[in-house]
This record gives sequence, C-alpha cells and structure tokens, in this order.
Amino acid sequence: MQVTPQQTDQSKDALVTGRRMIAGLGASGGIVIGRAFVLDRQYIHVIRQTIPADRIEEEVSALHRGVDDSIEQLRRLKSQSGALEASASDELGFLLDAYIQMLTQSRLLRGAEERIRQQKMNAVWAVSDVIDSIAAQFSGIKDRYIAARAADIREVGLRLMRCLIGETDRALDNTPSGAILIAEELSPADMARLQPGNVGAFVTAIGGAEGHTAIMARALGIPAVLGAADIIRGLSGGDTVIVDGIRGEVILRPTDADLTLYGKRREEWLAARAKLLSQRDLPSETRDKVQIDLHANIELPVEVSTVLQNGASGIGLLRSEFMFMNKSYLPDEEEQYQELAGIVSQMKDLPVTIRTLDIGGEKLAVALQNEMGSGPNPALGLRGVRLSLRREDLLEAQLAAILRASLHGRVRVLVPMVVTVAEMVRVRQVYHRVADRLRDQGHNIPPELPPLGAMIEIPAAALSIDALARECDFFAIGTNDLTQYTLAIDRSDDQVAQSYDPLHPAILRLIHEVSKASKRNNIPLSVCGEMAGDPRYTPLFLGMGLRNLSMSPGSLLPVKQRLRRLDSRTSEYQTRQILDQWDPARIAVMLDDFNDLA
Ligand code: PEP
Ligand code: MG
Repeated sequence: MQVTPQQTDQSKDALVTGRRMIAGLGASGGIVIGRAFVLDRQYIHVIRQTIPADRIEEEVSALHRGVDDSIEQLRRLKSQSGALEASASDELGFLLDAYIQMLTQSRLLRGAEERIRQQKMNAVWAVSDVIDSIAAQFSGIKDRYIAARAADIREVGLRLMRCLIGETDRALDNTPSGAILIAEELSPADMARLQPGNVGAFVTAIGGAEGHTAIMARALGIPAVLGAADIIRGLSGGDTVIVDGIRGEVILRPTDADLTLYGKRREEWLAARAKLLSQRDLPSETRDKVQIDLHANIELPVEVSTVLQNGASGIGLLRSEFMFMNKSYLPDEEEQYQELAGIVSQMKDLPVTIRTLDIGGEKLAVALQNEMGSGPNPALGLRGVRLSLRREDLLEAQLAAILRASLHGRVRVLVPMVVTVAEMVRVRQVYHRVADRLRDQGHNIPPELPPLGAMIEIPAAALSIDALARECDFFAIGTNDLTQYTLAIDRSDDQVAQSYDPLHPAILRLIHEVSKASKRNNIPLSVCGEMAGDPRYTPLFLGMGLRNLSMSPGSLLPVKQRLRRLDSRTSEYQTRQILDQWDPARIAVMLDDFNDLA
C-alpha cells in the first residue's frame, strides 16, 4: 500500500515566491546552479503484519519509541527554526508545536494503539490505517481549515511511519541527474546511496559541517550547504537554485544579476581546481624538503579512483562502516573480504589503513539498530571498539576479512574509540585467534600480522598515550571526535557549530602531547580527522612534528599546495608561540597571520 500526501502543503508553499537568500554552513566546497529536487520521503511502503498475541506489548512499545523519535526530530527542527527571522520562526514554531502535541495526546495515537491491541496490526500498518480513516472522514468536507488539519495529521503520521520503519525509503534513488537535492535532513546512510556526478549539490535544514553527512559530501566531491533552516519554507521542486558550498549560501529563484555573479564565481572555482590538479605529481614536501605523507580517508569504494587521481601516497583511514549501511543484514566475512580486497588491490603497494567498525553515535546500521537501541546519549554509548568487544563475532568476521585482504597489498588495522589498554589487549587476543583459525583453514597468513593501532580520539586516550603505546603498533589522531569529546560539542549539531573549535588550546595541547609521546615511544603517528584536510592547520601540524596527514581526497591537493610553501623550522617556531596562548580567538588570528606570511 502506498500512502501519499495531500497537495495542501504544496499550495501553501507556492504562496512564497521571489528571490530568497538563505544562509547555512558551507559543508563541502563548490558552486552549482541547478534545479531543485525536494526530497519527498512521503511515499512509504507499508508492510501489513498480524502480530501474535504475546508480541502485542512489544509492538505498542515500538510505536511509542517511534513517537519519541518523531518528537525528538520535531524538537530539533524547532530549535533550528530559532535561527530564522522572527516572523518565519514564529510561524514554523507554532506549526511544529502543534505537530508535537498531535504526537502526545491524539486521536492518531489512540487510534494506532487501539488497532495494535484489538486488531493485532503491526505498528506501521496501524498508523497508516488511522491516517486513512481520518482522511476518509474529512474528505467530503469542503472547508480550508479542516483540509489543513487533515494534512497536518497526515504529515505527522508519515513522520511517525518513517521513524517506525527506519530510513529505508527509496525517494533518494529518484533524484534527477544534476539536480540540487533539498531535504530536511540527510543521514550518512543516505549519502552512501548518492551517486557522485549525479547529484549536483545538496542543501539540508539540519546538520553540522563536521558531522558525517558533511564528511561524506566532501569525500564524494558534492558541494553542500547544511543547517540552512529556512530552506524548508517556500520551495517548489523545479525552482532554480544556486548553492555556494564555499560561503554557505543558497539562493532560491536567483535574479539575472545573481546568475551572472555566481556563474563567474563558478568559473573561478573550476579554474582553481584545474590548477590544483596540475600539481598532482609534485612531491609533498616543505620548502626545506621535509617530507610529509599525505594519505586519504575514504568512506566508499568508489572513492579509490579519486584518491589515486589526487596523488595520495596511501589510504590513512578506510571507514569500514559503508559495508554495514543500507543493509538489513550483517555482511559476513566473505562479503567483507571481497569489498576490502578490491580496495587493497586497487591501491597496489600503497598502504591501506582499515578501521574496524565504528557504527554508533550518528553513524547507524539498520541491522544493528535493535540490538544497540538509541541509548540516552548515543555519542557516549555503544560505539566503536565497545560494540566490537560486545559482539566479538562481528569483530572476528571483520578481522578475518581484513587479514585475508592484507594478502593483496599493504594493510594496517585501526581500532576506533579506544579508551583503555585493556581494550587493545583484548582486540589483539581476538586478532591472533582469528589469524590461527585462518591458518588452520589453509590461508597464507604471514607470521607477523599487519600492524594493529588505535585511534586517539577520546581525551582519556590522549592522556594515557604512553600506556597505550605498549599495546599499539601505531596511532591515528581523530580530531573530529577529539574535539567533540574535549569540548562537549556534538559535531553534527548545527546549533552549537560555532563553538566546535579545534583551535581551543586544550585540543592543540592534546595533539602536541600525543605527537611528543609517539616520538618518545617510536610509534608511527598520523592525523586523520577533518582538521588534517584544512590547509589552515597545516603549519600547526608541521610545527608539532606530525609527518603523516590523512584527509578527504578533495583536500589532498590544497594541503599539498600549502605545505610546499611552508618551512618546517618557521612552522615550529610559530607553533611554539601558538601553544603558549590560551585564547582560541587569539590563536585563530595568529594562525591566519602565519598562513598569510607563508
Ligand atoms: C575522527 O573522529 O576524527 C575520525 C577520523 O573518525 P570519524 O570521523 O569516523 O568518527
Ligand atoms: Mg571518530
């Protein structure tokens, strides 16, 4: 059964016409002019199931969980709308409050619960049935107020149904080629379904520039503006839109003057990109010939060709989450091996650092959702190595796939979200057990296993780095989570995006300490968070003694360009001055000055 929305919302939108400029967060660089494709998640395939009597309470609980998730989404939208100008904010705020109320004490909810209990319908069927019955009652009444109420109930019901069935809708697959995709929110799993080269750019109302959706946009080279709250008001599919992912600007229905100005900026951006590409084969070294390894972070196998085109000397972070996203099952050892071996072989003899699963927090996998639950605070919950050690069967399958893939090239294994030495000891035990099992099965696993290292992305790990050095063959600093957990700022929350500041002296000191400790303990170290891909920070890393940076493929050439203008001793001197400061704003000014001088 297909549930479709009524047309009333769209006619409401059509009232807003004319040019509008909307500010958001420039999350992925580039300027694109195209036609809007408004992501319509409203076509939902409802599976009807009769629930056995002993599972009814479970289904009612599922309904309530869906309600909680919907309310949470609406609250986030509401706080997001606070950034709008007063009249728009009030209008949207009232509407969202009304929606939240409909989810607390309403005919919709009572009707759904009744259907689950009495007619034994599964939750999503029950909700769709109530919506249909309310719509049927209202259908004969020609009154604009009643029509709008019916549309509101439908809107709330559809949101609830989407929460109940997860993000497995197909709307994304219908994005026309070259279109500007506009959505309330896109998840990292949604990003994994976009075809680079197909979507021109995208804009969302919710999302921060350091979250995973933004990272994936940069990885795929899709220009994007996130956190553009006002985008959800007054937009029609097919409108012309300009997206400037560099400045974080979106212009709806641009004037001729806009088209000329942004057309020129686009030309300049394309020319700068072409110039960068011409530097691909130059060595990545400073003016005084200090070599820096520039590696790439990848999210998806399709990126390997971009990695090579941009001259990376290896993959410094292969986020293995992609193998688990958009799947209703858990991929087994063989499936993971095939994926990983493909990537490792394409990289020939260049090193590939494969990270074990880091599902959790904002990165979700459908097949693990039930087991993990949402938890009161997912970012502090069952993430990374914690999940791997809870589900050793998953870890074993993954390590076996990685070990087998290592026979095709040069591999390292990286463990995320490590906090204690005991976690690394346990992972190493499993690693050896898996290697023994593979040897018994006749695989040609070498006596010395590929290096096993830890992500340093939680302050506790950075502060116990000497102890971790005893159990780790290498370290990779994850500045995204290190910043998030040190400053207690959710990296994907645009509400607090301004305070997400990697130049806070606490972060810089942690990175510096890890760098000194790695040198002391003779342990290879890289930086693989988003900071590593921002040329602004290159002199700092150089000055702190870092010699390996891993970043989105699109950042490799801009960082190389910056590096080639720097002198290592000058950077060391400047970094010492910066590390003496306590005020992030002053640090930012000093750093920009140093960059201007370079
Ligand atoms: C990080 O936290 O900096 C990192 C590289 O890992 P992820 O962004 O995948 O959490
Ligand atoms: Mg991380």
